[in-house]
This record gives sequence, structure tokens and C-alpha cells, in this order.
Amino acid sequence: MRYISTRGQAPALSFEEVVLTGMASDGGLYVPEEVPTLTRDDLAAMAGLSYAEIAFRVMKPFVNGEIDDETFRGIVEEAYATFSHDAVVPLNQLDANHFLLELFHGPTLAFKDVALQLLGRILDHFLKKRGERAVIMGATSGDTGSAAIEGCRHCDNLDIFILHPYNRVSEVQRRQMTTVLADNVFNVAIEGNFDDAQAMVKASFADQSFLNGTRLVAVNSINWARIMAQIVYYVASAVALGAPQRKVSFCVPSANFGNVFAGYMAYRMGLPVERFVIATNANDILHRTLAANDFSKQELKATLAPSMDIVVSSNFERLLFEAYERDGAAVAELLERFQAEPTALADAPLARLRKKFASHSVDDATILEVIREAHHRTQEILDPHTATGYRAAERERGDAAVPMITLATAHPAKFAEAVVKAGFPGVPLPPHMDDLLEREERYSVLPAELSAVQQFVVENRR
Ligand SMILES: *Cc1c(COP(=O)(O)O)cnc(C)c1O
Repeated sequence: MRYISTRGQAPALSFEEVVLTGMASDGGLYVPEEVPTLTRDDLAAMAGLSYAEIAFRVMKPFVNGEIDDETFRGIVEEAYATFSHDAVVPLNQLDANHFLLELFHGPTLAFKDVALQLLGRILDHFLKKRGERAVIMGATSGDTGSAAIEGCRHCDNLDIFILHPYNRVSEVQRRQMTTVLADNVFNVAIEGNFDDAQAMVKASFADQSFLNGTRLVAVNSINWARIMAQIVYYVASAVALGAPQRKVSFCVPSANFGNVFAGYMAYRMGLPVERFVIATNANDILHRTLAANDFSKQELKATLAPSMDIVVSSNFERLLFEAYERDGAAVAELLERFQAEPTALADAPLARLRKKFASHSVDDATILEVIREAHHRTQEILDPHTATGYRAAERERGDAAVPMITLATAHPAKFAEAVVKAGFPGVPLPPHMDDLLEREERYSVLPAELSAVQQFVVENRR
């Protein structure tokens, strides 16, 4: 198994290289050269297995023997032992045929833990084998930073530097990062906004000379291993509801499209999926593209579902590559046009997408309405991201006989603002985190200057 770029120009890479690389040199994203197959027998044999065992079986062809089976099994078991629920990602039945897939039982209470608990351990394994160390840099306005820190805190060969805008992330989100007191974790509060922080990370990736040869690694959702880890819960939940005998549909609160693309990969591997419903907040580029063929950027809107606030949906490129029948030149041309001006997909690729994907966009007022309505009907308090999914799943249900699985991407305690605005007294943090507001914090405040940040990284990496 080799990995190729969606823009068709960069060299093909092995699994190990692709995990350590991030973006392809031609500006594209890496995808597997062939999609491995899950047969009906493979799926049937998964019934009743542990999440970790299903994860091992689903991911094994992508790893391609580059980590030996016993070691990889150990990595997978360790990653999912950090989840507080025995089922790792339990299904919660809401009504006769609508289920919530609870992806928020990991250390930071959002679905990004599923991928980042695994990615940190895989990176550490390859670095140790190579006798190398690496630096991770990332900018965060919330969920990704804490999940990345939790995923790397035990990694001997990695130092992680996460930049967040000083005084501009919620207290819970900040403390989830700054109370991790491991020697290899560095939180940097930038005296600026999120864009300043992100610009400094981008500049550091573009010119890595300040690190004198040490590898800089990205853990954002363009890293293939994150997609790979997310394929697993689509398979596990569908099997739990009767696959391969029975089809299911999925509804996915979406932003950068990493999550729902993983679902599409599960379908391409052979999982019987009737349809995918893409839920967006008011930042609705995915919905506009699918519903109106309006593939254009619009100004960023700050919403009650902040982890879905995006202008461009980076992983959508991976789906476009499939829709354009793996024509890298056509994808490159389309995305160059998109960067410059509002554009549209060609007819045939758009028609292919519409066969499998529906979409719905949910604004802030509706998010609040849905939180109240879902509670009234099911006694569940949804987080605002999951609320977009709940509404989209109802509106774009399709065949009502097919079970609908809505992905619950965050725990409601993590996004108390929306829950309180919807009229609830708030949701307590789960027991393992209930002393979060008393824990010791550690972070450094730096000016929004590239040289200051890079000097900090060089002086503190181990
Ligand atoms: C990151 C995130 C999303 C969006 O996921 P994508 O893979 O970017 O589509 C949705 N909900 C929550 C809570 C998140 O943290």
C-alpha cells in the first residue's frame, strides 16, 4: 500500500512517510493508492469484538505491515484504554431508528481524541525506530490543541508546542491544555488572535531552518493517520446495528471534512451505507457546494458551535479527488480557481457526490431550539455541534427504515455557553475532570512575533 497526492504531482509515499509528512509537496493531500476491501465475511466476523480489535482489523491494511501486528495491537489497545467508557464509542438509541454515536468519552471530551490518541503513539513508535526526535507545532482555538496535547503527553520522542490566542479561548478549553504538566508539553499564549497564531505556525512549516534539521510534524486533520483512525467507528457502529445484513446512514457535524471523509472511506471499503448527511453551522461552504454548486469562500462567522467555524474545508479535497475520478490535474485546477474566485464543480463529479451525500445548514437560533427540542423528546442534552447533526439527520433522513446514526462530536459540558443559552443550568464535567478548575496551570505568554515564538521552541525542545 502506497499513498498518492490528490494533485497528482508529489511522489508516492509509504505509510510511515505519510504519517511523518502531512501535506504533499504539490500542495495536495495524501490518500491510499488503492482502497482495501472489507468483505461481508470480514464485517460479519466483527460482531461482538472489542473496539480495539475492530480498530486493529480495519486499520491493518493501511499500516501495511510497517508496524508489526503485535506492536500495532498494543498501540491500539493503549490508545483506547484512555477512554472512560467500556465501549469506547457507545451507541445511544434516541428513538425507534435514530442513534447517537457518542465519540466524546476520550480525555478531552471531543471526537478528536479518537484519532489523536492513536496518532501520538504511532508517531512516537516510528521516531523511536528511526532514532529521531520531532517537534509538533499547532495553533488552536479550542478542541484540536487539547486533543493533540493529550495524545502526545506520554511520547518520549516528541515535544509539542501549542499556540492559543491569549485570553481568547474558553476557560475549560484553556485548562484542558495548560493543566497537562508533562515535560514535553509547551503551551504558548500569543498576544494576538487565532489568525496570528496560525500564521506563525504556517510560517514555521514553510521555513523550518530555525530547527536546524529537527523534523517538524503536523497533527491537523490533513494527516492521513487521523482519517484512518476515524474509519473505525463507522465500521464498529454499523456492525453493532447489523451490518453487513443491514444498511445504515450517518449524519456528521462537519467542518474540515476529516470526519465524514473517514465515513466515506468506510463505505468505499465495503460498509453498506445508504447515505451520508453533512451537517454544517452557519459556516456552510459544504452545504452551499452540495445544494447549490456554490463552491466559494465566505467570511468567517463566530457561532455557538465554534469547532465547526471554518472558511475552507481542507479535507473536502480528498472527496473531490474521488468525485473527479482521481484526476489530480483536474483537482489542482479546480482548487487553484477556488482560491482566486467563487467557482463551481463540473456536472459529472457533482452528480456523483449527490448520489451519496445530502447536507443541511443550521444557524445559531436553530441550534438553541434543537437543544431544547431534543431534550424534550429524548432527555438528552446535546452539545451545539451535535445539535446541528440532530437537525440535519431529521431533515435529510431519506429512507426512514434505514437506521440513522448521528455522530455526537463533543460532550455538552465542554460547550456550556450554548447549553446555558438554551435555558439549561449547565452540565457538570465528568468525574475524571471535575477538579479541572482547581488544577495547576502552566503556560508562557509571548508577543505575536515569529522570532520570539521560534526562539522559545528552540530553547525549550528537549
Ligand atoms: C473538529 C470538530 C468538528 C468538525 O470535524 P471535521 O473533521 O473538521 O469535519 C465537529 N465537532 C467538534 C466538536 C469538533 O471538535
